[in-house]
Amino acid sequence: MKVRAAGLTDVGKVRAHNEDHLALVDEMGLFMVADGMGGQLAGEVASHLAVETICQVLAVAESPPEEDEATTADRLVTAIRTANRAIFEAGQNNPDWCNMGTTVVVAKIDDDQLTVAHVGDSRIYLLRARTITQLTDDHSLVAEQQRLGLLTREEAATSRMKNVITRALGAHPQVVVDVARHGLLTGDRIVLCSDGLTNMVTDDEIQLVAANHEDPAEACARLVGMANQRGGKDNITVILVVVAGE
Ligand code: CA
Repeated sequence: MKVRAAGLTDVGKVRAHNEDHLALVDEMGLFMVADGMGGQLAGEVASHLAVETICQVLAVAESPPEEDEATTADRLVTAIRTANRAIFEAGQNNPDWCNMGTTVVVAKIDDDQLTVAHVGDSRIYLLRARTITQLTDDHSLVAEQQRLGLLTREEAATSRMKNVITRALGAHPQVVVDVARHGLLTGDRIVLCSDGLTNMVTDDEIQLVAANHEDPAEACARLVGMANQRGGKDNITVILVVVAGE
């Protein structure tokens, strides 16, 4: 499948630093967003280290030896675990970074297959036939309570605990990575984003904007603009990938 992709990250209207990072490696069909956290500049260090490490590990794995039967899913999990270890060890070795962590969402496109892997509450959506489907489960306290039926969607959206995430890279030496595969069709759109977008712009609005712009860069600029118009309370990052066919 040929894809057209664009991405944009923005500090927003309130924060002094942008702790989000994104990467688009078109030739590898690889796209990712990371949303860092931690005092001082630690959040920026963590999200940057995540994106860089995952790119490096996957670039080496791109041309595996003949006998290497690891699947794309295995490779994504390995890359994310390697990034987790790198962030954890950097935090252990530097007092300024001791509490740093980051989310990460990774999308890898191989022909008509999409593999998604993630940790934390950044999201990947699939947009198809005017519907939007979240492919990632938020690793957050409110999302877990919602899945257990303890909170409604509305209660989760307005909870003061909304920012508490239950899984992050860098918090522990090991991390559990969620990974899944999906088939792609011509015309599909894939959105990767940080919570600075999804806390300000609804899923239906994301679907509408993505569907109504042929140019993914224009769609990303529009979505970031909407989040900023509504206060831009957090860093805002979005990648839009348009699956253009054979
Ligand atoms: Ca955020």
